[in-house]
Amino acid sequence: MSDIYENVMEVARRRGFVWPSSEIYGSVAGFIDYGPLGAMMKRNVENVWRNFYIIQEGYYEIECPTVGAEAIFVASGHVKEFADKMCQCPHCGEYLRADHIAEEHGVEGAGALSAEMLKSRIYELPCPACGETMGETDVFNFNLMFETTIGPGSQRRGYLRPETAQGIFTDFARLLRFYRDKLPFGAVQIGKSYRNEISPRQGMIRLREFSQAEAEIFVHPEEKKHPVFHRYAEYQVPLLTYGLQETGKPPVQKTMRDAVDEGIVANEYVAYYIALTHELLVTIGVDPEKLRFRQHMPDERAHYAMDCWDAEVFSGRFGWVEIVGIADRTDYDLRAHAANSGSSFTVFIPFEEARKVSRKRIVPDMGVLGPRYRGRAKAIADTMAEATPGEAGVTVEVDGEEIFIPAEQYQIREEEVEVRGEEVMPHVIEPSYGIDRMMYVVLEHAYAEEEVEEEVRRVLRLPPAVAPVQAAVFPLMNRDGLDLIARQIADTLARRQIVAQYDDSGAIGRRYRRQDEIGTPFAVTVDYDTKEDDTVTIRDRDSMEQVRIPVDQVADVVCSLIAGTMTFRDLAA
Ligand code: AMP
Repeated sequence: MSDIYENVMEVARRRGFVWPSSEIYGSVAGFIDYGPLGAMMKRNVENVWRNFYIIQEGYYEIECPTVGAEAIFVASGHVKEFADKMCQCPHCGEYLRADHIAEEHGVEGAGALSAEMLKSRIYELPCPACGETMGETDVFNFNLMFETTIGPGSQRRGYLRPETAQGIFTDFARLLRFYRDKLPFGAVQIGKSYRNEISPRQGMIRLREFSQAEAEIFVHPEEKKHPVFHRYAEYQVPLLTYGLQETGKPPVQKTMRDAVDEGIVANEYVAYYIALTHELLVTIGVDPEKLRFRQHMPDERAHYAMDCWDAEVFSGRFGWVEIVGIADRTDYDLRAHAANSGSSFTVFIPFEEARKVSRKRIVPDMGVLGPRYRGRAKAIADTMAEATPGEAGVTVEVDGEEIFIPAEQYQIREEEVEVRGEEVMPHVIEPSYGIDRMMYVVLEHAYAEEEVEEEVRRVLRLPPAVAPVQAAVFPLMNRDGLDLIARQIADTLARRQIVAQYDDSGAIGRRYRRQDEIGTPFAVTVDYDTKEDDTVTIRDRDSMEQVRIPVDQVADVVCSLIAGTMTFRDLAA
């Protein structure tokens, strides 16, 4: 049986969706070019994503540099932690991911094993490159970030960003002001990310330069109720909880309301974005029968994450592939940036009514401080007045120096103060999508071969919203004015923002096949009857049915079919 991946990639290469990058110099693994149709389709996928996150959710998009200064990635933990376990085959010299070798041979949870454990687990396994038994080989951490220097010389170290999220975190204070100092709010970013993957051998699934679409949603840590949860409360999604994974059971279908009420999903925000992701993936053409949401096992989850779910899609070649990660990251990122930058990452949340709070206030004794600290006495007294006293005394920091003042040297007065609100560090809910993986699985799920009139018809059943060409326009013959009418129709469609391809070369059957193979959902054909009665045929890619409609309705009909407000069946009825 032929391999689905080979078939899909053959069409993708031949028709200009995806090419190996810089092929003429021998392409480098982990880099791809999107050809004319691929680039168009990718924009469409990104725009569907924007329809959900920007138009539906109301989160604005920002655009940050792909090169970042070292400090950002020291704070985020990437400099220290963003590494994979690598080993080198002692026979062929190939660098390999040790956890992948173990996983391919049935070692579960290999990604969470220590270097020592992995070393012993791969000892008897074959090298995936040369087939020899791995034997004695060290396993060590390899940081996945591409390093660079900023400016001349090498004074300033920088990194290509390994995710788009950090730009949103570092802009937190400005975003907070933009959203008028209120929670919840969110920002999104679509752009390139870079990871120096050790041995990328899975085509579009594992790249060294890839596109991510990420949303960072900042919420009150104690109020994780989504304001419009009702939108997805009854939405059903197949959930593979970690309990089910432990017992080897299949996913369960749950409404999001039940998933939260039964404590399966941590909170409404995570559940909401699971359902939204399901809807989004099905909209771009992922087969819902091959889509599930898998909860991270406790040892697989980042230590700070409260709950984490991956949208996984089944690929005929790669098995279940993670396409999207949805995590409640708590305040880990903001806390880290606050500690490293000294900037504020909190939001002032006013109480409904100001509260009276009694507090102990230090009354400094200037008679003691004055002679002892002289010029600094006032600064010390002011700092003490704001400090919270301990049992033995109070430590204050003045001019970078820590000074301890014993309790005998001041008095304490109880007083009532009015407190209007509190400073809160938000938690972050992060849905993170890999656009290239979405592209591959959509192409794979769309691809079909069927026998039509004793020939194989290859067809990409792409939804109109993502198809790179939305309508084809053909004159039956390239003469007698048919071509002029067809060109006019193509122009009318273009004016309505429809990507229409005019094609007059070759037999009409061949032209249909070409469009089927690139996933064009509708084709309009001008024939001799058009000149008599001002009608054309419109053909549906999937059913290959044809219907005659008046020329002056073509644009409206095609727009409705693409928007999904009308189906071809409605038209045929
Ligand atoms: P992560 O930050 O690792 O959770 O990644 C978020 C998403 O980015 C994943 O769900 C993938 O879809 C995508 N992704 C991560 N690494 C790669 C890669 N090397 N190539 C392509 N897509 C990737």
